[in-house]
Amino acid sequence: MKTENKKLEKELLLNKLYAPHRDFKNSPLFIPGECTSIVFGEGNPDAEILFIGEAPGKMEDLEGRPFVGQSGRLLNRALELAELKREEVYITNIVKCRPPNNRTPLPNELAVGRDLLLLDQIQIISPRIICTLGSAALAGLTQKSYSIAKIHGSPLSFLDYILLPLYHPAYILRNRSEAPNFLADIKKIKILL
Ligand code: URA
Repeated sequence: MKTENKKLEKELLLNKLYAPHRDFKNSPLFIPGECTSIVFGEGNPDAEILFIGEAPGKMEDLEGRPFVGQSGRLLNRALELAELKREEVYITNIVKCRPPNNRTPLPNELAVGRDLLLLDQIQIISPRIICTLGSAALAGLTQKSYSIAKIHGSPLSFLDYILLPLYHPAYILRNRSEAPNFLADIKKIKILL
């Protein structure tokens, strides 16, 4: 199928997946507290690279877009330095609603996010590489427990995909000495493609 047709078809499938959750307060993905929108994800629906974060923060909730706050700026800079275009990748979160006080998502919120939406998003986009950002996304997706400090930058396999675990950008903002490692991990994406 021609690239543009494939992109359009995938976009329609993603819209169909999102439709039952538009009325977010009645969605099983809704987290009461500070959530005012569902942040579904954005980017190229036919992307080779899919980034999966933890959950929207305040800015993401307000804009309805993933990674648009401080963590997003760091991610954008790392993508630039790795010569990857943000508009060519797809970015989402395992949990689609902002948890109150930006707390870590609860195990049941990770499980609902994965089973109700994320696995279908992955199947539609069908990327070549999935990059999880942080330990919650990695554990929630794989349902295994890893030490992110040990496993970051080491490719794993998940279903038919290459899974590259990365640090969460918010962790890098708090631990600047890990920035070179984060960048080196992101640069591995092109090598793995
Ligand atoms: N942190 C995340 O995990 N996801 C976002 O979209 C923003 C910050």
